[in-house]
Amino acid sequence: MIPLFKVAIAPDALDRVTEVIQSGQLGHGPVVGRFEDALRTHVGNPHLATLNNGTSGLHLALRLATGPPPASGSGEPGEVLSTPLTFEATNWAILANGLRIRWVDVDPATLNVDLDDLAKKISPATRAVMVVHWAGHPVDLDRLSRILDEAEAAYGHRPAVIEDCAQAWGTTYRGRPLGNHGNICVYSFHATKHLACGTGGMIVLPAEELHARALALRFFGIDRGADRVNGAYDVPEWGYNFYLNEINAAIGLANLRTVADRVEEHRRNAAFYDAELAGVPGLEPTARVEGQESSFWLYPVKVEDRASFIRKMAAAGVTVSAVVRRNDTHTCLSPGDSALPGLDGVHERVVHIPVGWWLSEDDRAHIVDAIRSGW
Ligand SMILES: *Cc1c(COP(=O)(O)O)cnc(C)c1O
Repeated sequence: MIPLFKVAIAPDALDRVTEVIQSGQLGHGPVVGRFEDALRTHVGNPHLATLNNGTSGLHLALRLATGPPPASGSGEPGEVLSTPLTFEATNWAILANGLRIRWVDVDPATLNVDLDDLAKKISPATRAVMVVHWAGHPVDLDRLSRILDEAEAAYGHRPAVIEDCAQAWGTTYRGRPLGNHGNICVYSFHATKHLACGTGGMIVLPAEELHARALALRFFGIDRGADRVNGAYDVPEWGYNFYLNEINAAIGLANLRTVADRVEEHRRNAAFYDAELAGVPGLEPTARVEGQESSFWLYPVKVEDRASFIRKMAAAGVTVSAVVRRNDTHTCLSPGDSALPGLDGVHERVVHIPVGWWLSEDDRAHIVDAIRSGW
């Protein structure tokens, strides 16, 4: 079977991990520092902190944006606007902070949040706005910023924007990587993501003050430089055990040197599909936008009769997948009250086909032939 995901490990990862294990320092240490220095160069923003995974990053981002969770039973939970078409990590981080989700519709063209609907739903109750760059395709950040400007002018308060960049390593918006557009950004370094640490993640902040808080909160709110030997330290703001360890950082450092080539291969395969799948009956591509370059971590399409499509591709030896279910209909949530016509029209048709660096030219030609022959 041609897989939909594959874990990339650079050739020198094993040596780097061996060095860490021999050093005897496995928790926080110098390799994490070196990984962060290298990440600063790649992202182009110095205000970043590595974490033990992306979900912790989303949790921390919401905490930084909205303050500590309310004590149980005290007051109304704050509201966060979010998309239902994402991996559950995005939305469960909102609930874990004691906040309420208000669902925003999905734009069928991009599968990202529908910014017209977001503009309508933003209100004085909005504490934060969560957007996801699905499959690596960037949300229109300029438009989003104008919507926030209007909300600020109308209500005198500007909700924080959190960008879930878990799938978007290598994505650029107007020529710059995500993490440079004034919002709080969160990346995932999970094994299957473009830049793999095993598990790992990163938060990128728009200002030094937030960065300093993130560094403290990833380690219980304790300043690592403080005098713990004499117990001479104080925790002004309690935090979490969210820091990245040396072994995962070593894997990340090795993979960082090869990740750009892999993203390029995803992009080349995507361009091949864009050309070869145009006009196939029953299949609709997602939108491409000038100045917004996707990382193509995934290649989503919309197909008629998805169940048959998945069966047909499996018979041809190709793994394809919906990857996620719309989050708003899970049993653990109270039923949503708002209509989401964009999502209703598309969620049963979304499917992702293999697009990664592991495909040979024969593989991708075979995938195109299998699709063109119908399902
Ligand atoms: C992978 C992923 C996450 C979670 O990242 P982890 O590092 O696995 O915690 C969050 N959001 C989206 C959209 C993802 O794809």
